[in-house]
Amino acid sequence: MIIQKTENSRISTFDPNNFSFGSTFIDHMIICEYEDGKWGDVKLVPYGPIPFTPAMMGVNYGQACFEGMKAYKDKDGQVFLFRPEKNFERINKSAKRLAMPEVTEEMFLDGLKALVDIDRDWIPQGEGMSLYIRPLIFATEEALKARVANKYMFAIVATPAKSYYAEPVSVKISDHYSRAANGGVGSAKAAGNYAASFYPTQLAIEEGYEQIIWTDDATHEYFEESGTMNVFVRINDTIYTPPTSEKILDGVTRDSFIQLAKRRGIEVKIEPVAVKTVIEALKDGSLKEVWGVGTAVVTTEFQALGYEGVKLELPRLSAEESYAAILKKDLVDLQNNLSEDPFGWRVSVDHALETV
Ligand SMILES: *Cc1c(COP(=O)(O)O)cnc(C)c1O
Repeated sequence: MIIQKTENSRISTFDPNNFSFGSTFIDHMIICEYEDGKWGDVKLVPYGPIPFTPAMMGVNYGQACFEGMKAYKDKDGQVFLFRPEKNFERINKSAKRLAMPEVTEEMFLDGLKALVDIDRDWIPQGEGMSLYIRPLIFATEEALKARVANKYMFAIVATPAKSYYAEPVSVKISDHYSRAANGGVGSAKAAGNYAASFYPTQLAIEEGYEQIIWTDDATHEYFEESGTMNVFVRINDTIYTPPTSEKILDGVTRDSFIQLAKRRGIEVKIEPVAVKTVIEALKDGSLKEVWGVGTAVVTTEFQALGYEGVKLELPRLSAEESYAAILKKDLVDLQNNLSEDPFGWRVSVDHALETV
């Protein structure tokens, strides 16, 4: 790895108690360029803009995919990644679906660890605090030719993240728009999937909701995901979540919630979740909670479902009763090294720089 340390660290301007998530960037970034059929050297360089032309293929034809993951610092200053091999596998799955070159495990994991290690001072400490990390691959070739590009960049950038309590939100069950279709790119973390979801989400916001529950594109009778999160439904004391597929992204948080729930002896059913079943359960009182999960905010609990033009209020459970809250705490404690890690999910980054 080629390491070029910044001579103008901005760390003295960083206030861990007052910063803007998503627009504060750590001192360094990882970049690596692909050309002539192979990846070049991985470089750890000062964070900053890269020159690009509007004729760059990535912005014209949309060959771009990304990952979202976090690093955590415990009370002794030890730093951990959470299940980074899952993100490595997934970025390559996305790259393959978008006809982009896959990255090597060494590029991805060593790049991540070196970046997090060198900028460990940027990781805010404390409950729920973390560093949000964004690996991405995009086409950089300068050409207006609608074909697979032959130049790409792999990059990793990162922004400090704070814990925030997310208020329960109202979600509209989609009866028209879709996020994904059979044979499409729904299971890839394709940048374009986000672009396509913004307009329907704006419409839902105008109708008084915060998010959309995406349903299947053919019938709109089955839950798929909520916003950019996987969705869980609890009926009585059983948790339901739809199986991952070509249309449902295989979330790391989803998988972790399933395993944590099973460890607690909670029954988890991975099966199609029919809108009708959920609405009937709401009406007969057996629906206890519905929530979304993802790396960024861990869980978002829902307070109301929009169905056939009506906003149906969900029950409010206390933190002691809510599986969403209990499992969130299990996960966050494990991520922050406040509990045992029987699954081997924490990966230390300490001294990573010395070995790359
Ligand atoms: C990233 C993402 C998720 C959540 O995945 P995590 O690995 O848990 O962060 C869920 N759905 C979609 C559509 C996503 O893009």
